[in-house]
Amino acid sequence: MLMGVGIMFLTFIGMEAIAWAMHKYVLHGFLWFLHKSHHTRHQHTFEWNDLFFAWYGSLAMLFFIFGSEPLDYRFWIGAGITLYGVAYFLIHDVFIHRRIKMFGRTSNVYLKALNMAHRVHHKVKGKHGSESFGMLWVAPRYFKAASEVVNKQEQDKSGAVHH
Ligand SMILES: [Zn+2]
Ligand SMILES: [Zn+2]
Repeated sequence: MLMGVGIMFLTFIGMEAIAWAMHKYVLHGFLWFLHKSHHTRHQHTFEWNDLFFAWYGSLAMLFFIFGSEPLDYRFWIGAGITLYGVAYFLIHDVFIHRRIKMFGRTSNVYLKALNMAHRVHHKVKGKHGSESFGMLWVAPRYFKAASEVVNKQEQDKSGAVHH
């Protein structure tokens, strides 16, 4: 069990590395025709880019199927992929892109840094020239910028009380 949780955790970390490489070299590479839908403003509920959820979902499902009865390491890899998918969806689709209105403004420096980094990624509308391809891993410079914004927010808040 403990071993299983360890495998799940490592898979989760590994998925961030895989997602980063996929995004940088594949989505902004030969699968750009699908990912493009995510870099274009539109009014649709779904994007072609959402197919990637189906892809990772099917992958996790296969791990679950082959890794149960008896339960082995593959089950935990499936669990790690699923966990990453959920985290990715909550942060990228709900929190950053607000596809479901659930979260308000945050004063959490990490979440703010994530948001800033990903908005920089979206500044470039084309296939080339983007940066910040990761999701949960954020370059240190964004932490600095984010903590400045959060400090300012806090100051504004305490300022409002005195008026
Ligand atoms: Zn992209
Ligand atoms: Zn995005």
